[in-house]
Amino acid sequence: MDSLRRKAQQLLESKEVDCIIGYNEGSSGNVHAGFITTPGQAEKLIFDDRCKQNLGVYLTKHEVMRLGKLAIVAPVPVMRTVLILTYECQIVENSVKVLGIGLDGQFLDFNEYADIEKYLTDHCNEHPEEDKKLIEKISAMSVEERWDFWHETLKPCIKCFACRQACPMCYCVRCQVECNQPQWIPVQSSELGNMEWHFMRAMHLAGRCTGCGDCGRSCPLGIPVHLLTFKMSDVVLDNFNTKAGLTIKEPSTLSTYKANDKETFIR
Ligand code: SF4
Ligand code: SF4
Repeated sequence: MDSLRRKAQQLLESKEVDCIIGYNEGSSGNVHAGFITTPGQAEKLIFDDRCKQNLGVYLTKHEVMRLGKLAIVAPVPVMRTVLILTYECQIVENSVKVLGIGLDGQFLDFNEYADIEKYLTDHCNEHPEEDKKLIEKISAMSVEERWDFWHETLKPCIKCFACRQACPMCYCVRCQVECNQPQWIPVQSSELGNMEWHFMRAMHLAGRCTGCGDCGRSCPLGIPVHLLTFKMSDVVLDNFNTKAGLTIKEPSTLSTYKANDKETFIR
């Protein structure tokens, strides 16, 4: 981590950036996001197995954007987030300095986003093994069993929207689920309304999920909502041979039409 801290210090000393979004040691062994604005604070940066939060969620927050030119500590899901946000015109290409952390935990000093694209060609994150097993188990169910499974699993949801707030791809200022004129989806928690909310969320994330898992980790009730978006990523990969956030050159899956698309869903 010395190389990460040295680079952070140098970026702040030279005033190349005004703030570095990274991971800091918290209390009781917890890790939290840190906003490093002086060279002396660079020592506080850490990276280890506890650093799972997708810090890319802060890149579209106005209070963070106001801090000036940003750098971000970026394990692979964060790198993918930066590329998706660039493609979706939420950040300008090469405007946020990316302090990469490779899959092997090594510091990667990227000069431009094209270098990130090259790295991700051979180093994309996979779903954790336990999630893969759960997805296989759920996928093997009959349609009726799967409906019952998700009905029961989503029933306790209190619609606190922590899963949405944790997701860097849910950056709309006003979410459709909180609109009540007209009201498309019940605002309050209800059995059917909970399913509508979660299925809509999964559809909005299709072809955009970075596989960070933060939505599931952030749920106070332990509801594994990340399995829905992980499954959508698998469906997109199987049908369109593409993964989200590997390049800023190609349009995202859901905004692309190709004459040879299978379109089996409308047959
Ligand atoms: S849907 Fe969940 S796993 Fe996917 S990018 Fe958002 S927070 Fe991460
Ligand atoms: S974080 Fe959990 S309880 Fe809150 S809205 Fe998401 S699934 Fe529901």
